[in-house]
Amino acid sequence: MSSNQEWITRSDRVFVPTYTRFPAAIVEGKGCRLTDADGKEYLDFLAGIAVCNLGHCHPTVTAAICAQAGKLTHVSNLFHTQPQTELAELLLANSFADRVFLANSGAEANEAALKLARKHGGPGRYEVISLLGSFHGRTLATVAATGQAKFHQGFEPLPAGFVHAPFGDLPALEKAITQETCAILCEPLQGEGGVRPLELEYLAGIKALCKKHDLLLIFDEVQVGMGRTGSLFAYEQLGVTPDILTSAKALANGLPIGAMLTTDRIAASLGPGTHASTFGGNPIACAAAVATLKIILADGFLAEVKQKGDYLAQKLTTLAAKHPELAGGVRGRGLIQGLVLTDEGIAHGPAIIAALFKEGLLLNFAGNTALRCIPPLVVSEAEIDEMAAILDRVLTAKPW
Ligand code: PLP
Repeated sequence: MSSNQEWITRSDRVFVPTYTRFPAAIVEGKGCRLTDADGKEYLDFLAGIAVCNLGHCHPTVTAAICAQAGKLTHVSNLFHTQPQTELAELLLANSFADRVFLANSGAEANEAALKLARKHGGPGRYEVISLLGSFHGRTLATVAATGQAKFHQGFEPLPAGFVHAPFGDLPALEKAITQETCAILCEPLQGEGGVRPLELEYLAGIKALCKKHDLLLIFDEVQVGMGRTGSLFAYEQLGVTPDILTSAKALANGLPIGAMLTTDRIAASLGPGTHASTFGGNPIACAAAVATLKIILADGFLAEVKQKGDYLAQKLTTLAAKHPELAGGVRGRGLIQGLVLTDEGIAHGPAIIAALFKEGLLLNFAGNTALRCIPPLVVSEAEIDEMAAILDRVLTAKPW
């Protein structure tokens, strides 16, 4: 087996340099552990950025992938397929929705939602309001929807019809609504924006504005869906049901897939030929998603996620109290938790992540504000203890 350095050298020569990567070539994953080409093991509290919710290479998902790969890998949406329909039925039986559109990624699921909102709004109603600090993807429309200037820079002019409202400010949100507005788009908890949950009253206020102004409410649950917060979808715990919901990331536990869910009434606005995707609903990805969903929906799984989320939050709260110069608090829901850094902590954020990596712990620095913990949902309390011990060691040693 070649070493990390060999792979890094080869990789640095061939890719468009869009990614800043950890200096490791990962060759294997199992549960919450990854191994690199030098044989070093890591405790993974990133889960492929909230993707491998059942851990790496979950045997049931792997078996479903292998079985489907031997039967039918692709046939296009000119045909019906069994895994696609089974997946749609499972999603609908366990959500508010009556209809699904299948895509390949979070950005594509959001693109479908944006197109549906415009079609449903009708002529002249094309504007979508999203929140500052949000992240919705990297296609031009989803970049435009994303409420962070750093993702816009150099790509202007961005597509028209996207407006950003300040986070947490309902009057400002209402002020942003015009004759052209067709929808409000938000993440129930901003993941990339620094693990920032939207308060329940704020969410209820957003829903009320949508009702008052006849707008669609779109929840981007690409990062926080699929059990991450302790319910299959985050909205279930929030007292607010969206009109459209997008899912991706963990939906197939590591295979590329995206889904847009909505009601019969709204779905009727996208008739035959209005939207499509060659690979959307690929049979292997769908078979993996069916297997993944069945495990997440099995008795007791989500209750355990909640318990472990509380445990993780407790551990992080203890660390914040022990290191007040670096950490100011903890926020999150279920197994997405952020250790919010102070100004001093923020100044050292990237160095803290690098030091944790050296110690064999994978975390990342979200929104330039919080150390984000998004472990596989199958993480054990012992692994949470191990994570907290490494983090404590690094925050104490200050090796930067
Ligand atoms: N929406 C949210 C909330 C996300 O966190 C992400 C990715 O981080 C996306 C959309 C984009 O998903 P993808 O990278 O699969 O296009």
